[in-house]
Amino acid sequence: MAHVSRVVILGSGSAGLTAAIYAARAQLRPVVISGSQRGGQLTMTTDVENFPGFPTGVQGPELMELLRAQAERFEVDFIDDDATAVEFRRTPFEIAIGARMLEAESVIIATGAGTNWLGVPNEQRLIGHGVSSCAPCDAFFFRGKEVAVIGGGDSAMEEALVLTKFATKVTLVHRRDKFRASKIMAERALGHGKVEVRWNTVVEDVLGDDHVTGLRLRDTTSHAREDFRVDGVFVAIGHHPNTELFAGQIELDAEGYVKLHHHTMTNVRGVFAAGDVHDHRYRQAVTAAGWGCMAAMDVERYLEGH
Ligand code: NAP
Repeated sequence: MAHVSRVVILGSGSAGLTAAIYAARAQLRPVVISGSQRGGQLTMTTDVENFPGFPTGVQGPELMELLRAQAERFEVDFIDDDATAVEFRRTPFEIAIGARMLEAESVIIATGAGTNWLGVPNEQRLIGHGVSSCAPCDAFFFRGKEVAVIGGGDSAMEEALVLTKFATKVTLVHRRDKFRASKIMAERALGHGKVEVRWNTVVEDVLGDDHVTGLRLRDTTSHAREDFRVDGVFVAIGHHPNTELFAGQIELDAEGYVKLHHHTMTNVRGVFAAGDVHDHRYRQAVTAAGWGCMAAMDVERYLEGH
């Protein structure tokens, strides 16, 4: 008879790894399918100053390595690959990883969220050639150059500040006349001598043949268009939930986020969700970890009832 895991956790960001720690300590021997972006979105950030317990801050990738090491102290089976299909309409649930098939009594979906792109004509073609969504990963390549950051939220402020360490000028391009970012982050960015802001401005295209040479901008008040010279563009306009795999299997809301029904349980009994994949309000490392803890405790209770 095929082995049926008690719980399979999809995702290895702070929600997935916290769920793994709790589930392992409850002797459920969780299987974690880490996904191709092992460690989740925090691996794409630098300083994390608001995760409790780190008085002088911690680097995002280091925090994720610490969470993983903590999970590895207990009985957790890691599969560093992507789930490719799921079947939640019958039990045991099935999760495919390519040709390999896992069976599980319960599942925690902690697949997080991914980058939103602008969707302008040449953006995708120039990713890796001057278009990026990760300043901590790519800022180094823009030493002595001029770059633009698109967006007005905390991510855009953070990206701009990282880029000031390398670029000579960072232009924040925002579609409104007011930032959405927290006051402290906005003030840090606005107060930096290398940062300029283009308010009420949208990007209509990315310019360049084999690498970025500029942006086609449009002023939303005057409607004037301008080709603006930059060597790189960092898109920081938010994220979308990684739920493509679950369409038709569990209930999602209009924006594709998982809908919770009973605490952390989805509309399918035995399938739970934790973190940014359902939470578009808080979206913090610490809240995702909290959701991971809750989902694991709910799984434990659910399995006891079986
Ligand atoms: P966000 O807060 O949703 O901000 C997205 C920004 O992009 C908004 O300013 C939005 O403009 C703009 N935008 C959205 N779609 C656009 C489009 N198609 N074209 C042009 N602009 C567009 O997302 P986020 O900055 O990624 O932050 C997400 C969450 O993570 C927030 O809760 C944030 O506080 C948190 N976070 C915290 C930190 C930190 O504390 N250090 C760092 C990063 C993120 P509008 O303002 O006009 O809507």
